[in-house]
Amino acid sequence: MKLAGALLLTVALLLAPPSRSATGQSSPARVIVNGQDVALAARPILHGGVLMVPLPGVFEPFGSSAVWLPDEKAILISNRTRILIRLRINDPYAIVGTEPRLLPIAPVVLRDIPFVPAQAIFGLLGAWVRYEEEEAILRVSSIVGAVAVQRAAGTLRLIARASGPVQAETRHLTNPERVVIDLRDAVFRLPDQEMPINEAGVARVRIAQFQTKPAITRIVLDLAQPVDVRVADSATSFDLTMEVRPRGQAARAPTSVAQAGPPPPPAGDPGALPTPPPPGAAPPSAESLKIMQVRVEQTTGTTRVLVDGTATMQYVVRELVDPDRLVVDVMDAVFIPVKQEIPVNSAVVENVRAAQFQADPDIARVVVTLKRKAAYTITADDGGSVLVIAVTDAPLRGHAVVIDPGHGGKDPGAIGPTGLMEKHVTLDIGLRVRRLLVEDGIRVIMTRESDLFIELADRPRIGRERGGTVFVSLHANASTRTAVNGAETYYLTPLSLSLAQMIQDELTRTLALPSRGIKTANFLVLRDNATMPTVLVEVAFISHPQEEARLREEAFRERIAAAVARGITRFLAIYPIPAGL
Ligand SMILES: [Zn+2]
Repeated sequence: MKLAGALLLTVALLLAPPSRSATGQSSPARVIVNGQDVALAARPILHGGVLMVPLPGVFEPFGSSAVWLPDEKAILISNRTRILIRLRINDPYAIVGTEPRLLPIAPVVLRDIPFVPAQAIFGLLGAWVRYEEEEAILRVSSIVGAVAVQRAAGTLRLIARASGPVQAETRHLTNPERVVIDLRDAVFRLPDQEMPINEAGVARVRIAQFQTKPAITRIVLDLAQPVDVRVADSATSFDLTMEVRPRGQAARAPTSVAQAGPPPPPAGDPGALPTPPPPGAAPPSAESLKIMQVRVEQTTGTTRVLVDGTATMQYVVRELVDPDRLVVDVMDAVFIPVKQEIPVNSAVVENVRAAQFQADPDIARVVVTLKRKAAYTITADDGGSVLVIAVTDAPLRGHAVVIDPGHGGKDPGAIGPTGLMEKHVTLDIGLRVRRLLVEDGIRVIMTRESDLFIELADRPRIGRERGGTVFVSLHANASTRTAVNGAETYYLTPLSLSLAQMIQDELTRTLALPSRGIKTANFLVLRDNATMPTVLVEVAFISHPQEEARLREEAFRERIAAAVARGITRFLAIYPIPAGL
């Protein structure tokens, strides 16, 4: 029965007339996501008022990734906030997390391309979405659901909670003195807001939908004195944090914990949680950072432990065995609830405990007890004041990632203006990526581990023969125009699109490099590896004098490697291990 219904539907779609514009002329529908006219892989189909859109590239401009698994006739869509949607061809139910949601029409495959009811799926991802029938345009924007206001020690922090990517543009205006922050591609769902503030030089904040096409949410800060505004992106959500402080007041050091050298771990049993000090023991010093609470959020495949602090956190993390635990010590921190114990019982996390580990110097300790070794990431959110420990239960350990440092031996690759050779840069970054992936429990295959010449055609073969499931080739770019700079990632098959998008996304957000985007190219390593997700990353331009200088810095290469490794692990978390391995 089910099969017959599916066949009928497919036939009906093939026979469906193309969409018509108001003037009666046939014109293909367009999809505009956050102001970007999506280049569609095939002509969309209007069926019973529902627009069926070819999958490739549609959800990516909304900060999401769609993976098409042809063998399983399944589609996995995920985004930065870890919403995970599973679709099956000819099945009208989408599984969001673990919940089935009925779609207006089931996804279908036509001429090898999956088509999906994009409006409904964008809705599940939290987008503002509308089909403008007259012009045959599916218009998609991010939603700003609320703007939270936090005041702390002379600074004002505004956090715009967004459901998708949002671009901020800040302008300082005079007469009267004010700052205008335009959030582009953002629909503000609440009525206009006006809040008295009187903090950090800001008298009042006003928020409203400024215009709809394209959508702009406008935040106006009416000032009592000049201010500086810093806008920061989040690694784990689409939230934008705007930090406002009176002009000239020194900003705290940048919030990236990764850049600061970790302080030495405290002595004693690293897994122990002491009994809290009796009441009346040394009171917390006034300057100490406070940890207000530890929370646990669960989504399909991921358990997130959120540590809410009052300021940027410095932490040390250690992995212990018997039982497997992650121990995160937050330095100079007072744990306000004294002690917390959260039973979790997810696929990989047994429980989470947190307590004050020691006083003077203050150390707060969070222990995540695991059921088995699992891959995890730790990121700082909300300008560093929220630590997010994300533990994934995806079987990352079954994957084998092939890292292919470009060039080598007699082939130096591109050479920078002061003589830096691409082959040395790619090898160094490749070995760093390997270290980071291995730390996450992932097997890594190197096509070369030293300054060795390897034929181009041998590289995909080495990966395949040794059981690789994902292939990442590393290069540094070059151009005869020395002004050209930035990172770009190449892919060839639809299977590789998400991997390219996730690595490029990580590179662009962590490094202050312009993004040249993801591109397709018929490179040999991409072509010869059609059966596994394969990308070629051009991390920066060695021909650009400043980028060459940065590539000479170890810290910069480490940050590139961390971004590439994060992109890979994000991809592995949603990409199942191919059958038979
Ligand atoms: Zn190269």
